[in-house]
Amino acid sequence: MAYVDARCPLRPGDMCSLCVPGATGPQDCPTVAEVMRDPELRERLAELRREAAEAPEVLSQRHTDPHP
Ligand code: SF4
Repeated sequence: MAYVDARCPLRPGDMCSLCVPGATGPQDCPTVAEVMRDPELRERLAELRREAAEAPEVLSQRHTDPHP
């Protein structure tokens, strides 16, 4: 799987894996743009980021095998 040198804004702790066809990174990812346009999705994303910041060990456990 390809990765770019940027974190995915939608998946705290993950690098951008270019999972959206046509995207070359978070800067032109249509899914990121869609989430940022929607106030409810933006708020949910903020919640996820807060949870990730409060429990970083969950992320590190999740990343023991990044390519299952
Ligand atoms: S393509 Fe978009 S949704 Fe996929 S990992 Fe990259 S920034 Fe995140």
